[in-house]
Amino acid sequence: MEEELSEIPISWISEYAYCKRRFYLRYVECVDIRSADMVEGRYEHRIVDDRHITRRGPHITVSRLYVASKKYRIYGFCDNVEFDEKPLKGAFIDFLEGVYTIKPAEFKHGKVRHENEFEQQLCGQVFCLEEMYNTHIDYGLIYYVDSKDRLEIEMSDDLRQQTSITIASIRDDLGKMYSGNRVDKIFPVKYQRRCEKCALFDVCSPKKIAVDTYMKKLWAKGCKNDSNR
Ligand code: SF4
Repeated sequence: MEEELSEIPISWISEYAYCKRRFYLRYVECVDIRSADMVEGRYEHRIVDDRHITRRGPHITVSRLYVASKKYRIYGFCDNVEFDEKPLKGAFIDFLEGVYTIKPAEFKHGKVRHENEFEQQLCGQVFCLEEMYNTHIDYGLIYYVDSKDRLEIEMSDDLRQQTSITIASIRDDLGKMYSGNRVDKIFPVKYQRRCEKCALFDVCSPKKIAVDTYMKKLWAKGCKNDSNR
């Protein structure tokens, strides 16, 4: 019988959606190799690691807010959550004693770009906030620290579905692994364009594995004897 993993961190959603193999190496094998980009990103992240609340009129921002969902069994921190006072739309927020719309914001290193794994991570935060505040959230934000751009991400049905599938797949794959299934089958190495930028490229060796697999397939078909040599 497969073991069921209870709660999973929201940050796993992004890593798994990026590459299942990388997820396995980072969170199961605990390979902690960081690229220069990632170290820079970690440094920039200190803006939100320092916990604070700011207010500009009806707009309140809370940094590093802990969120969780019982339905999806996920938990984690939002870098920022923005509350906007909108008496006719939104949720009642106890500590602000008023009705506010809610928007989580995730901080990322680099210049503005659409990355599906970031959007799924944000959607995981939305799942938690919606459940905690019994509300519906239309948009989240990804803030790119280098270019100082804010990308508004619509919480579409499609994105919601992708995210819930990712959460279920993480649980399913780890369950299979803990039940003794072969890791290379569950978290396969697959060379893709993004491998060239991956910090775990040397540990993972996707090109070598692709060549090995090719040769194994040829070998399985049968090796001809070359009598001319
Ligand atoms: S090198 Fe490629 S396959 Fe390997 S972990 Fe990185 S992205 Fe995934």
